[in-house]
Amino acid sequence: MNDRIARRMEDIKPFQVMELLARAKELEAQGQTIVHMEIGEPDFVTPQPIVEAGIAALRSGQVHYTPAAGLPALREAIANWYSSSSGITVSPERIIVTPGASGALLLALALLLNPGDTVLMADPGYPCYRYFVRLLEGKAICIPVTEESAYQFTSRHIESHWTPETRAVLVASPANPTGVLLSQNTLAALMDSVESRGGTLVVDEIYHGLVYGDKATTALALSDQTFVINSFSKYFGMTGWRLGWLVVPKSFIRAADRLAQNLFLAASTPAQHAALAAFKPEALQILETRRVEFQRRRDFLLPELRDLGFHIPIIPQGAFYIYADCSRFSADSFAFARDLLENIGVAVTPGIDFGCNAPQQHLRFAYTTSMEQLQEGLGRLQAYLN
Ligand code: PMP
Repeated sequence: MNDRIARRMEDIKPFQVMELLARAKELEAQGQTIVHMEIGEPDFVTPQPIVEAGIAALRSGQVHYTPAAGLPALREAIANWYSSSSGITVSPERIIVTPGASGALLLALALLLNPGDTVLMADPGYPCYRYFVRLLEGKAICIPVTEESAYQFTSRHIESHWTPETRAVLVASPANPTGVLLSQNTLAALMDSVESRGGTLVVDEIYHGLVYGDKATTALALSDQTFVINSFSKYFGMTGWRLGWLVVPKSFIRAADRLAQNLFLAASTPAQHAALAAFKPEALQILETRRVEFQRRRDFLLPELRDLGFHIPIIPQGAFYIYADCSRFSADSFAFARDLLENIGVAVTPGIDFGCNAPQQHLRFAYTTSMEQLQEGLGRLQAYLN
């Protein structure tokens, strides 16, 4: 034990899947082919019009800090995008450009939490949420959402877990790892429930563009008191550019700006210039083609996994994940994921990475690889599991 490391670090765990990824790299170095269904980012590269805008920005010397809240033109472009895609008006002043959704999460939670405050969230859920809360000396309350409620986090969960210490509720829609999209009614009920108790709802909409049924409603359409997080990472295919945004209620604008100045100074300048091109028709057209391709992959993979014996109670409406119960094969998701990697070279994420309470008998399959690779992976699974 290194006693110079802060105590909070004892509570901050690595992703188990990283261990599997390291092993996958070793196997690949030995000449094995691995089918990657563990990766939580698009396999597509950033659309060319965005790349070109980034290169042009670098060439023309756009390498200095921007204002802390982001380039005014980008904040305006994001506001215009809400207007053209969802028909809602959001003042650009309420939009703070951040280093990824990760930066937005840190800002949002740092703006809201005092030490000892609790934040309610779904279990399974995106693991970093609880570590951000821990970092800020708050307490994450991970509430199991089960297949009985179609993995939805609802106002009933709030009613049964709210205490005087509760400050906020953090939900993702669509969610990682379940792909669950909250309906407009569910979102509205969550909002009522949180706001009537004097708390704040934080909605992570990072997968919002990647929805395969009815169009998703942004939480911004329902309340101006909600914090909304989004990012250029997933839908826009810009994970490595590290760019996202946070929409805050009007009364938080000045505090958010002050905090952003101190925490980040600003998000990446070339990335912000590149992102200006993300809302142009040329880029949006490419992104729509990709969304359709993700849907095609989901529609292919899901019934095949069910046929193999994975229990998948819902059809995920968004993101690029299928959360599958593997209890028919194993009660230990990590051991099972390791078996699949070692024996047939199929890499998936063990459900244990997303849960903090119940042991998870689930795997997360990411369809962030080509149809050919998905077919190859399924063939290997079929031969092994049968
Ligand atoms: N929220 C969710 C639900 C995610 O899955 C991720 C990335 N996997 C993030 C936030 C962080 O994304 P980024 O910082 O790349 O925008």
